[in-house]
Amino acid sequence: MNQIMKDAYGISPQTIALLRRAEEDLAEPFRRFEAMAEVNQAKVLAAFHEETISERHLTGTTGYGYDDAGRDALDRIYASVFGAEAALVRQQIVSGTHALAACFFGILRPGDTVVFATDTPYDTLEEVVGLRGEAGSGSLADWGVNSKVVPLLSDGSPDYDAIKAALDPSVKMVAMQRSKGYAWRKSLSICDLKELIGFIKGIAPHVICMVDNCYGEFVEELEPTAVGADLMAGSLIKNPGGGLAPTGGYIAGRRDLVELAAARLTSPGIGGEVGATLGVNRLFFQGLFLAPHTVMQSLKSAALAARVFELAGYDVCPTADSLRTDIIQAIRLGSAEKVCAFCQGIQKGSPIDSQVCPEPWDMPGYESPVIMAAGTFVSGASIEISADAPIREPFAVYLQGGLTYESAKVALLCALDKVLAQ
Ligand SMILES: *Cc1c(COP(=O)(O)O)cnc(C)c1O
Repeated sequence: MNQIMKDAYGISPQTIALLRRAEEDLAEPFRRFEAMAEVNQAKVLAAFHEETISERHLTGTTGYGYDDAGRDALDRIYASVFGAEAALVRQQIVSGTHALAACFFGILRPGDTVVFATDTPYDTLEEVVGLRGEAGSGSLADWGVNSKVVPLLSDGSPDYDAIKAALDPSVKMVAMQRSKGYAWRKSLSICDLKELIGFIKGIAPHVICMVDNCYGEFVEELEPTAVGADLMAGSLIKNPGGGLAPTGGYIAGRRDLVELAAARLTSPGIGGEVGATLGVNRLFFQGLFLAPHTVMQSLKSAALAARVFELAGYDVCPTADSLRTDIIQAIRLGSAEKVCAFCQGIQKGSPIDSQVCPEPWDMPGYESPVIMAAGTFVSGASIEISADAPIREPFAVYLQGGLTYESAKVALLCALDKVLAQ
């Protein structure tokens, strides 16, 4: 590998040596990731077998998409694997934000309050909720749904006292985010979420606990819906699509809530019973089949990035030996120049569009200029090796994905080399 990396990309032997050293320290985390993939793979296969998935499930419907055997079986498989009563897995859900918005708008009514218990929600949700953006754009706030944000404590854990104080009788839903998003904090593990949900239910049993599960699927043995969450949502071009899903999102949880979200996604009275799958069923099934393995590949890639940048003297979150609950690796590079160098390196080592040089831009839905490296087969898929960073303090870059550990390593070498050259 050294010779190719030197000839093809001009990577210095020192950069390669640093990466090799990092790799030697990762035997223990890698063993853990492999054990997790085994458990989750077995769970996915068992759900396939329960539904006796056959050739007929892999083809699709057109038009209204009534009686789509594949779509309906996939909904049940997602529900089973995620420990939920019901699920809605659709290409008509255009992104994670859309899946989450369908949950909010499907369930909340004028006069209701939603509490964000883990600080400000992910950037793209701020405009959905009406925390940012113009009045009249159709946000929850425009519809008379109130929101409260409870900041996390300085150590990144939920502020139980403040959450308790926020739970007045108008609160219908408490939303929480598993993954750190673009924040320098720890992500919330399944154990953290279970405890938080138990606490909320202890005070207000009827409050709906909803989890933004983006980037979390298959990183741990259980998902939020298996430990008390009433509802969760995520994107298929992240973990559960396994790198094969070309688009889509999912919603899983209590049946009545999934149905309300489906009524918002399509229309009341129609809900989840329509939605042509065209040719996408096979990729959704095969992607879910691969997802536990693909997630393991990206966890290995994340741990390698963490270790190599630890050795290079940078702060990383989480640290290389941490237990993980999502596939995100944050690295504090400290300057806009290094952030750009890192993203440009990842792009250079990606399979698609390696000739492109990413620059920061004002991306719709995001508050600060964002730079994104995404040389991906599926446009914008972040289960594939990708890096993004808002250009703001503390100049941290967020790395995720890696369809294969080997290819992520090439991209990481390019990024490391560019940062070390700065
Ligand atoms: C990616 C992400 C979203 C939004 O998903 P999109 O598919 O980009 O719309 C929401 N929340 C978190 C934590 C995410 O990581």
